[in-house]
Formats: sequence, structure tokens, C-alpha cells
Amino acid sequence: MANLAIAGGEPQRQQPYPSWPIWTQAEVDAVQAVVTSGRWISLQGTEVKQFETEFAAYHDAAYGIAVVNGTVALKLALTAAGVGVGDEVLMPGYTFVATATAALEIGAVPIFVDIDPETYTLDPIHAATLITPRTRAIVPVHLGGRPADMDAILDLAQEHDLAVIEDAAQAWGSAWNGAKVGALGQIGGISFQASKNITAGEGGMMLTNDPAIGEMARSLSNCGRQTDGLWYAHYVLGGNYRLSEFQGAVLRVQLQRYPEHLERRQANAAYLERSLAEIDGVSTMRSDPRVTANAYHLFFIRYDADAFGGVSKDRFIQALQAEGIQGVSGGYSLPVYRQPVMQAENFGLSTPPLFHGVHPNPPDYREVALPATDRACDNEAVWLRQSMLLGDRQDMDDIIEAILKLQRYRDELQDD
Ligand SMILES: *Cc1c(COP(=O)(O)O)cnc(C)c1O
Repeated sequence: MANLAIAGGEPQRQQPYPSWPIWTQAEVDAVQAVVTSGRWISLQGTEVKQFETEFAAYHDAAYGIAVVNGTVALKLALTAAGVGVGDEVLMPGYTFVATATAALEIGAVPIFVDIDPETYTLDPIHAATLITPRTRAIVPVHLGGRPADMDAILDLAQEHDLAVIEDAAQAWGSAWNGAKVGALGQIGGISFQASKNITAGEGGMMLTNDPAIGEMARSLSNCGRQTDGLWYAHYVLGGNYRLSEFQGAVLRVQLQRYPEHLERRQANAAYLERSLAEIDGVSTMRSDPRVTANAYHLFFIRYDADAFGGVSKDRFIQALQAEGIQGVSGGYSLPVYRQPVMQAENFGLSTPPLFHGVHPNPPDYREVALPATDRACDNEAVWLRQSMLLGDRQDMDDIIEAILKLQRYRDELQDD
């Protein structure tokens, strides 16, 4: 008689985990108020402006510039920070593809840095070895909400005169040494896409403390206009990347709810970390007192196949899902440099890539191999999504019990 659900036994649980997005009548009322106001565009209304102010304040940043999504936020942030064609930009190989495509779209050259396997964020020691005279910027990604090592990254940037552009797409409310991320360097980008911890379906924001960079970011997102310029005077190559008032109104409501959600995710994550430490074959990220807040957009579990009779990460995840732990996944199945687009340098409108002919020896991404990044994708990283962490203690206990069950009956995991 089988014990594991994947082998025909009873699953650990039947109930679903909290669904996402979470909304109440407050979101409906906010959208309705925008509809009936007739002011649907941020240039006329006040919702996006107020959201920018409120979100920037929440993130300890002087300026917030809302845009259509996180990818655009990163692309414009890189441009506003002075990154251009042929400039090398250091970034982790373990991230969402947009970190790299944002750079490629403006002709910059992504240079992939390995991750620290115990934090899944950019390894500053490896980054230092990749700096060349063409390196212009570094993009730490606060993956899953955990701040990258900003002490080391800011030091490295200062030493080599690099711009620091944070990819804080997953890190609303995350803090390093008590300071919220996003504007710790020159500028940062945030996302409000549907899966993220605050959402209006789509949306993004740039955060900065630098007034000149903020003005440039605003101009790039508003058709190249200048704050005091004529309406039909366009000064830089910008586009219309403005967020609508409907989205601004929803995001303001979501932001009000956010501190409570952040607390709950962190409390559940701390409980999971303590409990999983007791189980052979799984581990969590290294704790660091400098991480003073973590958005936990993702909760990472490191899977060690050796402790589970050598079964693959994919099989382990299928078995957890069969136990009713919906929302667990293997995350990014490929490092960015192994994505088909990168391997083939299939850069669409700009094929060959914009940087060819500018950069003397452009990288061949087929030659990139980063051990910790490859291992995370292929063998090790197991993700729990943020909405699961909004559950109660029983919801967390089921995750722990299911993993214990797989550990105990690991012989049943063999699929041959
Ligand atoms: C979501 C995300 C982005 C892109 O944001 P979009 O709003 O989807 O364009 C960029 N980087 C990371 C790490 C992300 O998770």
C-alpha cells in the first residue's frame, strides 16, 4: 500500500492555498471613483501622483515615477542612470529574463554574474572579477524579496565608478540595514505585475533620490517632455510609458494593505525556516542580520537529491504537488544566459544586437556557465509563491509535513 500521493496514497491536504490577487470592495470603489471622475489619465487625475508619493515615501525614496510595467521601469532606469549602447552591465544569471532584456533593448551588454548559493542573490566577489574598462553599471536583483549584499555592491560600485540600478521588482518593503531597497543606488525598478506582492495587473515604478535622474526618468516615461517645457516640446527620446489612473487607484488601496501582508509573510517564513532546518535534504537561505525586512515574494527551499535517494528536483516537486502543496514550483528552469533568445542572440528588431560593431569583443552567451546559477535552476531551487505565505499555521504545517512524508517514504519517489 503506497503512502505518498504520487504513488497512489492519500494526499497530505485537499484545501487550496490562499488565492491571488486579494481584493475587497475598496478596490472596486477606487476604480469606480476614477471612472465617474472622467479623469482617466494621470496627467489630469491625482491617483497615480499620490501613489507615486506614497510608494516613494514607503520606500524611503525621494522620487517615484510610475510606468506601465517593471521591464520598462528597468529599461528607463538604466537609461536615466547613463547606461547606453556597448556598455557592460553586471547582473545575476539567476533572475527573470527582463533584467537582461531591459539592458539589451537599449544596446547594453549583459554580463552574467553567479549567485551566492546561500542567498540566491548576486555574488559580489564574482562580480569584481568581471569588471572591465567597459563596465558601466551593476544590477543587483533582490530575488524573491531578499536584498542582495548592498554593502559589498555599493563599495564595488564606488571603487569602479559604476551606476547601481536595483531590480527591486520582487522586493516591496524589503530593507537592508534598516533602509528600504529600490533607491540605495542611483535608481531602481519595481513591478506591479499580477504575480507580485502589490498588483494592478500590470504596472511599474522607478525610485531614486537623485533629482536629475528622477527628472530624466520622468521625461523618458512622458514622451521626452520636461517638467517646465512646452506641452508639445520633446527633449529626449522618450515614449509614453505612463500608468493609468485606474491602476494608480487600485495600487493605492493595495499599498494600504501591504504592511500587514508583509508581516504575515515574514512570520510564516520564519516559522518555515525554523521547521525546515530540522529536515534532512532541504535547507533555506542563510540568515543575515543586515536583511532587516524581506518581502518574501518567493520562499526558497534548497533541495538536496542525495538525501532523497537521488530523485530529480522535478520529481520532488511533482510529489509535493500531489500531496496538495499547490503553488510549489521549480522556478526559473533556465538561467538567463541559457534562454533561447540569449543563445541564438535572437534580439528581434536589433538583430544583430545593437552592441555589435560598438563593443570590440561581445560575449558569446553559449560559453557562459555559472555553477551556482546552473545548480539552482537544474537541481536545487524549489519555490513557494508569496500568496502561500499569507496562509495560517496549519497551511505552513502541511508544507512541512508533506516534505517530511517525502523524506520518510523516499523509496516510493523512484519513478521507474
Ligand atoms: C517581474 C519582474 C520583472 C519585470 O516586471 P514586469 O512588470 O513583469 O515587466 C523584472 N525583474 C524581476 C526580477 C521580476 O520578477
